[in-house]
Amino acid sequence: MRLLLLKRWDASWGFWSRYNRLRSMSDKRILIVGDGLAGTLVAWELLEQGVDFVVWGDGSPAASDVAAGMFNPVSFRRILPVWHAQEHLDSARTRYAACESHLGVKLWHDVALLRIFPDAAYAAQWDERIAEQHPVSAFIERCDDGNWHESISAPYGAGRIREAGWVDVQTLVKKSREFWQQRQAWSPTRWNIDDGLPEGFDAVVDCRGVGAKSDLLRYGLEVRPNQGEVLTLQVPSAVGVETVNNVTWAMPIAGGQVRIGSTYRWDFMEPTVLDASQSVLLDKANAARENKLFSRDQITEHRAGLRPASPDRRPLVGRVADAIPWYIVCNGWGTRGVLIGPRTAAWTIQSVLDASWEVPAEVRPNRFRTFTNN
Ligand SMILES: Cc1cc2nc3c(=O)[nH]c(=O)nc-3n(C[C@H](O)[C@H](O)[C@H](O)COP(=O)(O)OP(=O)(O)OC[C@H]3O[C@@H](n4cnc5c(N)ncnc54)[C@H](O)[C@@H]3O)c2cc1C
Repeated sequence: MRLLLLKRWDASWGFWSRYNRLRSMSDKRILIVGDGLAGTLVAWELLEQGVDFVVWGDGSPAASDVAAGMFNPVSFRRILPVWHAQEHLDSARTRYAACESHLGVKLWHDVALLRIFPDAAYAAQWDERIAEQHPVSAFIERCDDGNWHESISAPYGAGRIREAGWVDVQTLVKKSREFWQQRQAWSPTRWNIDDGLPEGFDAVVDCRGVGAKSDLLRYGLEVRPNQGEVLTLQVPSAVGVETVNNVTWAMPIAGGQVRIGSTYRWDFMEPTVLDASQSVLLDKANAARENKLFSRDQITEHRAGLRPASPDRRPLVGRVADAIPWYIVCNGWGTRGVLIGPRTAAWTIQSVLDASWEVPAEVRPNRFRTFTNN
């Protein structure tokens, strides 16, 4: 059924759009503002539901333009599954596969992740999680000593996560934008909340990332910009096929390219690169290797951006204020947009199409004490 809908839509945007207007359960026309990963995934969700939409973007810097695209269901700090790990993984696989077949590009890359243990206590905790069949044990394995690429140094051992990898966010966003553009469903237009509900639309879904900061603050909702940087290197020697994580990570991409990231700063709110970050990232990535593998002269790209984070690291989804029921927020994707994005976009659209549907309490705007509904 889904495939049939997509094919029909592809065949004739105009027809499909008019057809949907007549038949869709909502008969709504939605404006999505922001054309980064959030706006893109919300648009795909609407397309699948057969709802008419237009995407606006103003060309301001986007976190999605620089994201490394990594996904990993495990939080390494305390060795726990990330929030709703399995559900997010399942939704993400399905959504990105649908985008791949529709856009005709490869987006999803399965790349196992090797976690280098920092000390013996961490190794013991890892083993304990497996022995006690903790929920995280569904995602983690203990590696036998030396069962990793010869360049790697892991004196306290290492663990492996197989259900990890990366999604090519830049290709997804760029190709999707072209796709909407061809169908007159994208416009280079700036919007903010004082512009109100533009004529011809029934709702605005706000996917502006840090661009929504000041508007959301009016309702006591915080989007905290978290500055991050990532490097791409062209490396002459073999580095193995796994992402190596010793807090900093080095991820092989293709053709000898390696991506190294990321930095996290709360004290610097510009999406600009800092020269000092290169040494910080390279030194840390080299610490996980027997020899100094990575060097400045191999750097082919150094990118920076602002992650839109929320105070409790969960996304912000749903209607914000009774006075503007047409305004729906989809923000706060922080460091894990790739993994949590598809399911979060689905929740967002459910809240647009069904006013009686309750957004899960853990992502609802009114969970914050600072929230004010007027
Ligand atoms: C260095 C770095 C590395 C990262 N690596 C990863 C990773 O490996 N894995 C992962 O899951 N996540 C990663 N992230 C996080 C990821 O980038 C975000 O979770 C995600 O991209 C957020 O998407 P978004 O669409 O909400 O925001 P953005 O991508 O910032 O998009 C916001 C959009 O809104 C537009 N906009 C802003 N204001 C307006 C306006 N007034 N009118 C119209 N349009 C407007 C902007 O132009 C932009 O297109 C990384 C981030 C950074 C900075």
